[in-house]
Amino acid sequence: MNLDKFKISDGKNFKISEFKTDFTGDLDSKKEAEKRLKKNKEKMRELQDKFYAHDKFSLLIIFQAMDAAGKDSSIKHVMSGLNPQGTQVFSFKQPSKEELDHDYLWRTSKSLPERGRIGIFNRSYYEEVLVVKVHNLVKYQNIPSELVTDNIWTERYNQIRNFEQHISQNGTVILKFFLNVSKNEQKSRFLKRLDTPSKNWKFSAADLEERKLWDEYQKCYQQAIRETSTDFAPWYIIPADHKWFARLLISEIINDTLENLKIEYPSLSDEQIANLEIYKKQLIEE
Ligand code: ATP
Ligand code: MG
Repeated sequence: MNLDKFKISDGKNFKISEFKTDFTGDLDSKKEAEKRLKKNKEKMRELQDKFYAHDKFSLLIIFQAMDAAGKDSSIKHVMSGLNPQGTQVFSFKQPSKEELDHDYLWRTSKSLPERGRIGIFNRSYYEEVLVVKVHNLVKYQNIPSELVTDNIWTERYNQIRNFEQHISQNGTVILKFFLNVSKNEQKSRFLKRLDTPSKNWKFSAADLEERKLWDEYQKCYQQAIRETSTDFAPWYIIPADHKWFARLLISEIINDTLENLKIEYPSLSDEQIANLEIYKKQLIEE
């Protein structure tokens, strides 16, 4: 698959409306996609094993989307291809009192993946230029009022770019997935949550309130992606109306990224290899 068409490394001209939410490429069946996803997951395990052994890079994968776009289920599927030992998932909700006592990058910074690990963020500091902007929540964030000016969003885009550059220059590889679902598809997923007893718990009345602000959110997503797409932290616009396609594409991007790092298992020195023989002999003669 040509992954470049989903990738935004320079957001200057990014327009959300130019990206189809129901794109499935040359794949027209879910069955074929699932077969490929299964293979990709096996490959991902192998790549992750080397990544873990190499222990120098970290991989940060950010998921952002409107409600019901499939963040949770995509994470579930991707994760099931990984070794839990080298993986961590953090979900970011409304900040707690303690979190609001710090700058907004604090809670995400302390959740960044260690070297050799893959860290998944279900929502992230991007909420700070999405929900916080749409609902004008800055006033509840305990920031000294003289620091909150009309420049606040420009400053935040800058802070985010700088933060991402900082962690990338220190060994964190960053992937950012925007699950791009249509308003219609969201409606049918909400209806399904209401109609299916085992999905009822997923529905929240607040989701309907957010849906009313759809256009505001789309604008904020577009601007955030414009401002924060870089070579070192590109956004990927994932067509998300067909969950099977979104999952497959995400797995392809992760594998491609890991492969491009060209990591091999750490090699041993001649002396260390010679020692292996000695240890072996010791064990056998025990
Ligand atoms: P689901 O898809 O299962 O509904 P979710 O990620 O929407 O999962 P919820 O508990 O429903 O989880 O919602 C979390 C809420 O927290 C979201 O509405 C999100 O916008 C909000 N949130 C996240 N970060 C912040 C933040 N920094 N400031 C204010 N609200 C935030
Ligand atoms: Mg929700």
